[in-house]
Amino acid sequence: MDSSKSKDSTNSGLQETNSDINDEEKNDLCPGFKDADAFVKYGLGAVLSATKASAGLPQTGDEYDFYRSFPGFQEFCESQGDKLLHCMSQIMQHHGCRSRMRDRNKLTGLEERFDLVVDSNDVILERVGILLDEADGVNRNQQPVMPAEFQPPKIVVSSWNRMGSSSGSRSETFRLLQAKNIARPQMKFKEKVDNSNTPFIPKIFIKPNAVKPLPSCKLLLTLMFFPSVRPEDLDVPAALADFIHQQRTQEHVEDMFAHPYQYELDHLTIQESVLSKPEPQMYKPLTETKCSFIDTLDDLVALNEKLCKLSEFAVDLEHHSYRSFLGLTCLIQISSREEDFIIDAIELRSELYILNEAFTDPAIVKVFHGADSDIEWLQRDFGLYVVNLFDTHQASRALNLARHSLDQLLKHFCNVNSEKRYQLADWRIRPLPDEMVQYARMDTHYLLYIYDCVRVQLLDFNHGQPGLLQSVWNKSKDISLKKYTKPIFTEESYLELQRKQKRSFNTQQLTAFRLLFAWRDKLARQEDESTGFTLPTHMMNKISEELPKEPQGIIACCNPVPPLVRQQVNELHLLVQQAREMPLLKVRKDGCQNDLQHCSPDGKLDTLIRLIILLILNSASFLKELETQNDHESLSVAQMKARRIIECFENPFRMYLPSSDVHISKNAKFDPSSKIFEVIKELHSSIYIQTYLCCPPNYMFECGGKKRERVASEVGESTPKPSKKQMKSAEKPQKTEPPPKDSFKPFDYSQSDLKVFAGTKSKDNTQFDPNRQAQGFKKKKTARGQKSNSGAGNRSMSYMAGKSDRGFRHNWPKR
Ligand code: AMP
Ligand code: MN
Ligand code: ZN
Repeated sequence: MDSSKSKDSTNSGLQETNSDINDEEKNDLCPGFKDADAFVKYGLGAVLSATKASAGLPQTGDEYDFYRSFPGFQEFCESQGDKLLHCMSQIMQHHGCRSRMRDRNKLTGLEERFDLVVDSNDVILERVGILLDEADGVNRNQQPVMPAEFQPPKIVVSSWNRMGSSSGSRSETFRLLQAKNIARPQMKFKEKVDNSNTPFIPKIFIKPNAVKPLPSCKLLLTLMFFPSVRPEDLDVPAALADFIHQQRTQEHVEDMFAHPYQYELDHLTIQESVLSKPEPQMYKPLTETKCSFIDTLDDLVALNEKLCKLSEFAVDLEHHSYRSFLGLTCLIQISSREEDFIIDAIELRSELYILNEAFTDPAIVKVFHGADSDIEWLQRDFGLYVVNLFDTHQASRALNLARHSLDQLLKHFCNVNSEKRYQLADWRIRPLPDEMVQYARMDTHYLLYIYDCVRVQLLDFNHGQPGLLQSVWNKSKDISLKKYTKPIFTEESYLELQRKQKRSFNTQQLTAFRLLFAWRDKLARQEDESTGFTLPTHMMNKISEELPKEPQGIIACCNPVPPLVRQQVNELHLLVQQAREMPLLKVRKDGCQNDLQHCSPDGKLDTLIRLIILLILNSASFLKELETQNDHESLSVAQMKARRIIECFENPFRMYLPSSDVHISKNAKFDPSSKIFEVIKELHSSIYIQTYLCCPPNYMFECGGKKRERVASEVGESTPKPSKKQMKSAEKPQKTEPPPKDSFKPFDYSQSDLKVFAGTKSKDNTQFDPNRQAQGFKKKKTARGQKSNSGAGNRSMSYMAGKSDRGFRHNWPKR
């Protein structure tokens, strides 16, 4: 493989393209500046010095607290802070984003502000993407064209992505390599992608290096239905389908969904040799290293044989998520001490399981950097697992290095300046341009040397004791135990996204949002597109907010119009119409819809108090009783107290309770009042109260104990609206007598899992959790304070350092 493509020649080519663009852009685009380039240079310079200045501020913690004790410093911080917030609000307003930055509660508002910034970034970046496309002459309204022959990928270079010379070094050009009319690799897949709304079943059907064999039913089923085909999709005799169904619904299910190498990983012992201090083995220079592109079965088999003889090798993956529902792995890079290999993971998708022989061999160390996503992608696409993983990202954390990204490690240990230019490139492009191959190769080429170096440092750091190194091995093992979970659509999924956005929708808007969300999920699965491609969230918000009367109005909410929206605009119009038929119920000013979490600025305390009250009240009939009972004397002391407290709050289910002055349309298919029935029915369970009020409804699926059957339902399959009669009886359930006064027992909250307040699940929950992907009602914070994103329907175009919205939830380890 030719690795010596001259960088200079590439760059000069780019500059030409650049100047062409600039000529067109020159006229009055940026008043006061010669051209867009000059403006960008100026802007980047300003951003850079602002960043530098902010890095120079006292660090959070003791240092900051110390400075804070000086009134002058405090005042300065406050005035600057206000100025910045004002400035940010203005930018957001300019882009039509929500921008209430300043009037947030100082203590609780930080997170909300952060959310606002993330949302606004999404909107702005998405718009940037759109405009770049337009500038590039790309009409996104077109369906992807399948070229008869391969067309060379288009290189998009615009002035904005040129780094200013202020960085000191020679100016570098960031490139977005995009191939617009690329053939969908999915077309070539031998096994259809399983986007069905069913939990992921491990793809493995042969288990090399097994200590414990694969469960027999899994073997049977995977053999019969590999690759993860649903029996209901197959033309199999009813008896067989029944059998499979039984298998799936009985205890075998647990086995079937378990991590196939759980046992082996639980019993993995770390070899003495990797716990002792190594002599770092220098990497070979790139130019002297053979690099092979593997895209045939024969080469793959040969590679596997080679790998099986090694004691360690390094691995990395490249991935694509925009034009696929679940995402797809495009490349696997592997480096030994001697050679580099780039595997075409699209071409060899169905054959890659072969590598399990080397990947699960406990005698071979597999070195990754930030393997969290890689481990999941390997499972999802190839049924590949890793036994004996060492994650250099975990090592970097344990060493407390300043930064944990791969490029930092490369700089630190190898003095190599890596370029991140292709990190977000479209890795589906084939044939892969040599520059991209070279880029991909850098991700693993130096990794074994880094593995040596960090082991030395981990031992030195700990005065020769293996404890710290051991902890990195253990953390790495935990990562290899991660299981891929598919995003599951539930009737409540939309609420999670809606909550996160904290928009205040009225019932019609919320219904529209729900219907659009379901439409988008269904279509994205069907067409194998990401939800972000199908209908970006900000467009979905706009349609929901405006509830256009005409199909044309829906089109007007989208710029540019996503192809699938254009195609199905009439269906969308019907959904909006359906939403408009909803009774218009008022919602509280603060946007409270149906949960307590966001009802007040001091949400948590408020929630806690309400929760306690509700736990005391413990049943809907009792609640009802309390509300209607006038005879105070007949209440016990506890009940009186509860009553007094509850009078201070609004009933959180108010909007779901039937009200005599509200007309509920009989035609409304998605009537929120249908919730009355459900809510009251379930209110008897205090667990339900806990989970419903404090967790996204999905949470119930795993911690409520009761599995809900509606999980897999889609548009139109929602719970039938109860008749008015039903509602009446639901208001006052006949079966449940109000508890006799003297037997009233307040709920023992010592038994409740208070972790729910923090929005985190109890860690020891080992139950299978098909919704894990779809959760994230409370954003998880990584150790460095970054938020990882989540939510099946929540892809966006923000590429925050260490975070991505675009695919499913991953904690992007920084490269
Ligand atoms: P890496 O491990 O850095 O080579 O990244 C592997 C894959 O993760 C890339 O091919 C991208 O698809 C994806 N990725 C990495 N970083 C980001 C990011 N910041 N945002 C979105 N996707 C990312
Ligand atoms: Mn990686
Ligand atoms: Zn990579």
